[in-house]
Amino acid sequence: MSAYVFLDRDGTLTEDRGYTFRVEDYRLLPGVAEGLRRLTALGFRLAIVTNQSGIARGRFGPQDFERFQKHLVDDLAARGVVIDASYHCPHHPDDGCGCRKPSPALLERARDELGADLARSWMIGDHAGDVALAARAGLAGAVLVLSGRGRDEAASVDPAVPRADNLSAAAEAIAAASR
Ligand SMILES: [Mg+2]
Ligand SMILES: [Zn+2]
Repeated sequence: MSAYVFLDRDGTLTEDRGYTFRVEDYRLLPGVAEGLRRLTALGFRLAIVTNQSGIARGRFGPQDFERFQKHLVDDLAARGVVIDASYHCPHHPDDGCGCRKPSPALLERARDELGADLARSWMIGDHAGDVALAARAGLAGAVLVLSGRGRDEAASVDPAVPRADNLSAAAEAIAAASR
């Protein structure tokens, strides 16, 4: 069993342009590669967990998502970061699916498929739903990044949850909590 840090994508790793899917729109956020390398050095493995309702909304297709995702994972690999897996919910919020964050279903898949030890794992995201997911899945904790929508979301997140300006600072918050 491995401890994981689960990563939201849009607004956490990459610039959130609203239903981002074009590779030309790909922008890695500042501090991301450094922060992910730091988490790996701390002994965590990494996986991405993302809601992609743009697929159900017809804004882009599953292949567009896969192409963007491959571009991200390949770019991170070139920067020395290994992403073990990407999990996504392609459904609309009104679909009543079981997998959309903050439903814990995608993390339960990670537990079963990757051997993720959820109780020793963390979530980093820019949305209150990412923080709620951590609680519902029984993770060790969550960090709210203030990139993306994080500053707007902060008011609706438990003040006890650590805030970080970017992924690099989020990694330091997890390092401090793991000490
Ligand atoms: Mg996000
Ligand atoms: Zn879903």
